[in-house]
Amino acid sequence: MTTINNFDRTCSVCGKTTSQPVLGSTCSLDYSDLDTRPAPLQRETMNLWVFECPHCGYVSHNIEKELELSPDFLKTDEYLICDNMEFKSELSKKFYRQYLIGNEKKDYETAFFALLHCTWACDDAEDELAVKIRKMALEILPKIDMNKDLMLIKADLLRRACQFDELIRQFSDVSLSDELYDKIIKFQLELARKKDVTCYTVGDVLNE
Ligand SMILES: [Zn+2]
Repeated sequence: MTTINNFDRTCSVCGKTTSQPVLGSTCSLDYSDLDTRPAPLQRETMNLWVFECPHCGYVSHNIEKELELSPDFLKTDEYLICDNMEFKSELSKKFYRQYLIGNEKKDYETAFFALLHCTWACDDAEDELAVKIRKMALEILPKIDMNKDLMLIKADLLRRACQFDELIRQFSDVSLSDELYDKIIKFQLELARKKDVTCYTVGDVLNE
């Protein structure tokens, strides 16, 4: 069961207070996608992961958190028109703005996950920008510390951005010293050889 509570949040940029929905608890009973996207229930809470102050446009998972940039950044064309990306959904735009703030602050981990979440919002809106955003996420990855979860996400980003040869080149000899993770990588390599860009879950790997 998913619970959502509303809290008054005072924006750290403009000082105005807005009621913000906050996720109380949720659970996912099913397997996640291969890029770690959660299964339904938790997936449906994605619109609570990021919030936009309706007064000044500041985007954050919590607008009480300091922006740590000049507030003028929120008025730049880059921020306002999302680098001219014509996203099909408002949620994609919010995640993209979260990415822009993270990138400007050189907080590349926040920037990366904001782009990953942006691709999911694009997928839901059947927005072709998803491929471009996956490529951008791949460009940021070298700037953050890798771990085996990020390796799995990287493999899926490469495949779903149609970079099949690159996936095969980078992952053919990879072992993550974990049976399930290695099985997922093997599954990804097979999909890449078939040039398959569709979305799969961890359950698909286990049932193969
Ligand atoms: Zn504000």
